[in-house]
Amino acid sequence: MPPWILFTYSLDLDPARLAEDCARWGLEHVLLAPDQLTDPRLAEALRARGIGLVLNLPVLYAPLELRAHPEHLSRTWRDRPAVHSWLHMACPGDERFLAARARRFEPLLRDLAPAAVSLDFLRFYVHWEEVPLDGDPAAVEDGCYCRDCLAAFAREAGEVAHRGPDGALPPEQWPAWAAWKSRRITELCRRFAGQVRAALPDTPLYVKTIPWGQGDLADGLRRVAGQDLEALAPLVDAFAPMTFTHVLGLGLEWKARCLQEVARRTGKPVLSYIQTASLDGRTLPLADLEAELADARRRGHPAVVFGWEALTGDPARQALVAARHHPG
Ligand SMILES: [Zn+2]
Repeated sequence: MPPWILFTYSLDLDPARLAEDCARWGLEHVLLAPDQLTDPRLAEALRARGIGLVLNLPVLYAPLELRAHPEHLSRTWRDRPAVHSWLHMACPGDERFLAARARRFEPLLRDLAPAAVSLDFLRFYVHWEEVPLDGDPAAVEDGCYCRDCLAAFAREAGEVAHRGPDGALPPEQWPAWAAWKSRRITELCRRFAGQVRAALPDTPLYVKTIPWGQGDLADGLRRVAGQDLEALAPLVDAFAPMTFTHVLGLGLEWKARCLQEVARRTGKPVLSYIQTASLDGRTLPLADLEAELADARRRGHPAVVFGWEALTGDPARQALVAARHHPG
């Protein structure tokens, strides 16, 4: 797997500056999604600087398309569309939407020769960043409770969803819900991994997962997200649990446990995530970033550095990232 990858979410990228920053900070790869790859100068600028592209394929996340076509949005048990701030997620059972995604990915897989491919948002809707790991499992707002998904659940699980007055499923139906969701996400992984393998048979493929362990939130990873790590493992080459320590307010011990669990359960290499800044604009202590970089170096994990926007204009953090291989 590519060892160090820079993350950026900007849609309006300056290709030369992005490539130059990667080179200056010693980050050999950059992770980019279809909406960011509309400027043909970008791939060229990366090539010129020797920076590898990791192609990120957001399967069920498509804010531009879903704003224009909200009929493809997933629905939560509160009967709300699956929208939360920047997050817009489609219904995993929506075949028209899925076919359009596959068509969108096809030319990128054919033309870009990425160093690796990442399957992202391959899960049911949840805004996991705001879910405390020790919170009430019943309070987590998940998808998809659209008519088609509820009908598919009834058909495949052999039981109708007995939703309460608030729309939530009773705990006795959670195991069946988890099994049905996991089958669906595994099926989508098989389909999209198959598309990637057909186009790029020798390119490493990894999948991003929510950083919840087996004991968290009443089987939350399967029940809420539909991510069954053991079932996904044969379909991909590596896993990238989104171990954002500062998002969840957890430390390096939690992160190590999470990564070890995923490696143990899947038998696959894992990538870690390193936050250089908080997601809500607060400044993270420099010492925390230094400790996290040292931790990744010690463990030898490949890492996705999150991200370009926070590092830009912050020479102290840039220097720590650039010096990560040379402690002290
Ligand atoms: Zn649905």
